[in-house]
Amino acid sequence: MPIITFQGKQYECDSDTPILDSLLARGVNVPCGCRGGICQACMLKATSGKPTELSQTGIEKKLKDKNYFLSCLCKAESDMEVQLPDPSDKYHSSIVYEKEYLNASVVRLRCSRPEGFTYQPGQFVNLMQPEQALVRSYSLASTSDDNFLEFHIRLIHDGRMSNWIADTVENGTFIFVSDAMGSCYYNSACEASPLLLAGTGTGLAPLYGILRNALASGHQQEVYLLHGGLSSEGLYYQEQLQFIAQQRDNFTYQPCVLHGPAPESGVQGSIDEQLRLVLNTRQDWRLFLCGDTEMVNAMRNVCLEHGINESDIHTDSFG
Ligand SMILES: Cc1cc2nc3c(=O)[nH]c(=O)nc-3n(C[C@H](O)[C@H](O)[C@H](O)COP(=O)(O)OP(=O)(O)OC[C@H]3O[C@@H](n4cnc5c(N)ncnc54)[C@H](O)[C@@H]3O)c2cc1C
Repeated sequence: MPIITFQGKQYECDSDTPILDSLLARGVNVPCGCRGGICQACMLKATSGKPTELSQTGIEKKLKDKNYFLSCLCKAESDMEVQLPDPSDKYHSSIVYEKEYLNASVVRLRCSRPEGFTYQPGQFVNLMQPEQALVRSYSLASTSDDNFLEFHIRLIHDGRMSNWIADTVENGTFIFVSDAMGSCYYNSACEASPLLLAGTGTGLAPLYGILRNALASGHQQEVYLLHGGLSSEGLYYQEQLQFIAQQRDNFTYQPCVLHGPAPESGVQGSIDEQLRLVLNTRQDWRLFLCGDTEMVNAMRNVCLEHGINESDIHTDSFG
């Protein structure tokens, strides 16, 4: 069995099991997120031994050249010595300058935009909390017109990162931000299509970035935003979105809630039912589906059943 050396200790790891799983099973605290090769939260650096080609998929060249790899995809073929990423290789430092509750369970963080940091609204970054080597992905709600990075963070009971943000982060706290990743964003290929944006909870973060980017880019086709919550208390940014809808003839905002009375200018019902109704109004929608993975999958199935091409569906799934 290959020996993996991490933080000075040696672990015998099965060559059929990803290094991440082997280390976690032995009680080692390795940051991780999606565990499917997407979020890059589990990235490690090999200081000896060679990471597999598969485990370097999607990693930018400058990091590949330094032997970074995704531990969730790497089944060791020989002995390796690995370490946590050097923050200066992988992260930009940013300072929190506004923290505000958007409702009882969603916090908005606005942080300084690191010099040279580029992104498309709707992409996601990894935020790192250095003391506990904790890494989680969050989507960007800001656009390039904003001189800050904006995140909407849902507080999860017992959630390590979201509770750190709720309890400890304050104006002036330093956080580390990775480069932006993901392909769920508005680009010139979307210009000719009507856009249907749908998401629940903090799925609104990427949608808010995508919406404002589309409108700022002069999108002329219809744009329809469906935002779902369990109840009206789970919604946020209603005033901002209603204001945009008043300013722009081609934009419709519809909140919907599963329980309780319908919100102002919204409806009561499940988001997938509402999605079906909006899809029925025309055939040529391009979709952006964001938020909780189960909901994104359910909405994606509704779209596929409706005959939307897979290539016209963009997703940011929080799995
Ligand atoms: C690409 C991507 C983008 C994301 N963007 C956002 C975003 O913009 N806003 C946002 O709020 N979150 C987003 N997430 C989710 C985020 O990365 C964290 O998973 C989430 O904040 C929980 O982290 P935590 O450390 O607080 O909880 P953890 O300590 O990881 O989990 C604590 C407990 O809560 C459960 N849990 C974890 N996440 C959820 C969840 N979403 N719903 C219900 N139970 C959960 C876990 O199974 C565990 O039992 C995104 C995830 C991905 C992969």
